[in-house]
Amino acid sequence: MAKAIQSIRGMHDILPSDTPAWRHLEETARQVLEAYGYSEIRMPVVEQTDLFARSIGEVTDIVEKEMYSFEDRNGDSLTLRPEGTAGCVRAGIEHGLLHNQQQRLWYAGPMFRHERPQKGRYRQFHQIGVETFGIEGPDIDAELILISARLWRELGLDGLRLEINSLGSSEARAAYREHLVRHFQAHEDRLDEDSRRRLHGNPMRILDSKNPDLRELIAAAPTLTDHLDQASREHFEGLQRSLTAAGIAFTVNPRLVRGLDYYGRTVFEWITDELGAQGTVCAGGRYDGLVEQLGGRATTAAGFALGMERLLALLETRGLKTAAAAPHAYVIAAGDAAELAALELAEQLRDAGLKVVGNCGGGGFKAQMKRADRSGAVLALMLGEEEIASGSVTIKYLRDAERPQATVPRDTLPETIRQHLS
Ligand code: ATP
Ligand code: MG
Repeated sequence: MAKAIQSIRGMHDILPSDTPAWRHLEETARQVLEAYGYSEIRMPVVEQTDLFARSIGEVTDIVEKEMYSFEDRNGDSLTLRPEGTAGCVRAGIEHGLLHNQQQRLWYAGPMFRHERPQKGRYRQFHQIGVETFGIEGPDIDAELILISARLWRELGLDGLRLEINSLGSSEARAAYREHLVRHFQAHEDRLDEDSRRRLHGNPMRILDSKNPDLRELIAAAPTLTDHLDQASREHFEGLQRSLTAAGIAFTVNPRLVRGLDYYGRTVFEWITDELGAQGTVCAGGRYDGLVEQLGGRATTAAGFALGMERLLALLETRGLKTAAAAPHAYVIAAGDAAELAALELAEQLRDAGLKVVGNCGGGGFKAQMKRADRSGAVLALMLGEEEIASGSVTIKYLRDAERPQATVPRDTLPETIRQHLS
């Protein structure tokens, strides 16, 4: 036997036992987003490498070491998207969706990062992303947070913790940066290799380090809050007022920065303690400079992305995983003569809106009954010579062993089945 080929490390199949939960999450998110007037956009999975280098930032984990980049047959450098914002902005500029207007968009799909695979961290993972353009005030930041909060409610998830922070204007960040460099320089011997490299290129990244050895040093670092510009401070206070008015609990975490360079002013994360180290299920913020940075006209923007695998893991931990819907019936044909009649019956029932599995591949009565049971169907519908002659069907209640089987007229069958299901 040839050696079987395996999937790529960190990239997972989503099996039939899991797809109902995925669909439930996707469907719930779609309904919530539509309730707020957001439109779906679908971008390619591959973009020019430059797009990510220019948006996410050269000195970030993603661009430095996590991108799946390759040359295509024309020699162009392409990259499997590590996130959706850059592609969404690219598409928005390209199709004139952003300039001089307000836009509310969402998308869902796979993202790719060459990270170390572990629970809650994969190389192909899935996000639902939400992006808004052309709205400057904190009201839209609050709306984004309300959307996520409503989604948690619809999914039955309580107890997620919201942390917010403001990264201020780019001038404020530049001033803060100097204080930060001074702090870390004074303790350079305690920095790890990554952080030492970032000290001058991108010191704020150090705050986002996941190395536990740096925790103390990071906790002692000066915070941006003390260096916020007046306009950003007012913007941030506006957001807090809206959240309070909407009854959304939050904490201000002055250490919260994001792993991508394009963020400014508001950043936020929704966190759970139930998934171990990979506890951030949703993260976002403002990226007012990005559209211009990618060649569009200056347009304010804000958005978030949620990690679908992490949310699904949380739903499963809480016992809220959606199971597959069982078929209503399985049609069994007793004897060759009944096969065509069974085919016809199954189609009639599907016309009536029922989910019906037909018996394919022949087999004796016993074998068919076994398949019917394995299919998960609620009922087995049996058609033999007698039933055909009398225009009837015999129902066996597969999930109710006590109940005797019953022979009913064929023309009332859909109604009989519906009554039983309700
Ligand atoms: P983390 O701090 O966990 O690395 P991040 O800051 O890199 O996350 P974002 O780029 O903001 O994450 O992505 C938004 C969300 O997507 C995260 O909060 C998380 O839920 C999910 N996510 C990010 N990377 C992965 C991954 N490798 N595997 C699974 N989910 C991920
Ligand atoms: Mg990351």
